[in-house]
Amino acid sequence: TKTLAARVSTLSPSTTLAITAKAKEMKESGIDVIGLGAGEPDYNTPENILEAAYDSMKEGKTKYTPSGGLPALKDAVIAKLKVDQQLEYTRQEIMIGIGAKHVLYTLFQVILDPADEVIIPTPYWVSYPEQVKLAGGVPVFVESTSDSEFKVTADQIRSAISSKTKAVIINSPGNPTGMIYSKEELQQIAEVCKEKDIWIISDEIYEKLIYGEEKHVSIAQLSDDAKKRTFIINGVSKSHSMTGWRIGYIAGDKEVVSAMTNLASHSTSNPTTTSQYAAIEAYNGPQDAVENMRQDFESRLERIYPQLASIPGFRVIKPQGAFYLLPEVTEAAKRTGFSNVDEFASALLTEAKVAVIPGSGFGSPDTIRLSYATSIDLLEEAVKRIRSYVEQNW
Ligand code: PLP
Repeated sequence: TKTLAARVSTLSPSTTLAITAKAKEMKESGIDVIGLGAGEPDYNTPENILEAAYDSMKEGKTKYTPSGGLPALKDAVIAKLKVDQQLEYTRQEIMIGIGAKHVLYTLFQVILDPADEVIIPTPYWVSYPEQVKLAGGVPVFVESTSDSEFKVTADQIRSAISSKTKAVIINSPGNPTGMIYSKEELQQIAEVCKEKDIWIISDEIYEKLIYGEEKHVSIAQLSDDAKKRTFIINGVSKSHSMTGWRIGYIAGDKEVVSAMTNLASHSTSNPTTTSQYAAIEAYNGPQDAVENMRQDFESRLERIYPQLASIPGFRVIKPQGAFYLLPEVTEAAKRTGFSNVDEFASALLTEAKVAVIPGSGFGSPDTIRLSYATSIDLLEEAVKRIRSYVEQNW
């Protein structure tokens, strides 16, 4: 009969996109809503990258490319990994995909058999569990809260590993947490993965957005063994404000990368050619725009963090990276008359006219996520609205 396949019947829509859509609808009907749901930088793509894309089109570079991406783009990624991570990869160990999201999707499709498990620390990026399930796998959650700075320990990961475990996902800097795993923490996690012989999936999409004294370390840098079992996932979306261009990559085991490239050859053919030329310029061209955006995010964080942290009933750790704040707001929800944070988040949208993402979608039901990828004026106004809503209804 004409029923949907079982694999999509349990698929949840992305909470992030759902709230963003509701806020947009309210805005279009004339309501003055401030959206703090965004998962993308609010800057335009740097000019040199736009020029490179336009030039490539004028030169007639508008045809299919190899499925795994243009050799020149793979080379640009290889050079980036050498400079930033001091890691050596060959072209066979790199695949270019349609954003980090689709790269991850393809990876799960090629490494998971039915009932294989993937360990996912909470709070997590919404798409990890859905992508694992779409590949027939089983997400196994390992919990963290603000008491552990929203990070899981190697021991927690060890306890979650079973004979079915294929991989663990590490996302540092994290979405929605903004937290960064230290070299020592990663070292301990790498040890456990070696001992249990499982893959490490290292989502480093927020690598360039790190604040204060923190430094990015990729778990793949820690030893030869760690490099062999790690898939680095990254791309230009957040670093170069290129979310709509849809270019991401994987670096890792060449047998897996080759299977992914094969799969892509039958599903997508190749990432958009123009976007690949733009990404070559993003990696090979000047990087000052990347640093300027980082500094701008940092100054917003410095301004907005203390204002948010002083709202009654909000408990918030200062993030070290990405562009999200993740306050625990159970106290504020309770004192303003709600039995859970989802309802509180709904009220913030309809009453305070500020769109935030409830943490339940991230496996973190005590929190809400606010993105600071918007202007400082709007951020200050949004925080003011949230504060007065909470104070008036306390
Ligand atoms: N990984 C994380 C943690 C993210 O937050 C995102 C985007 O929101 C992605 C991956 C996907 O990025 P893209 O598909 O735009 O490269």
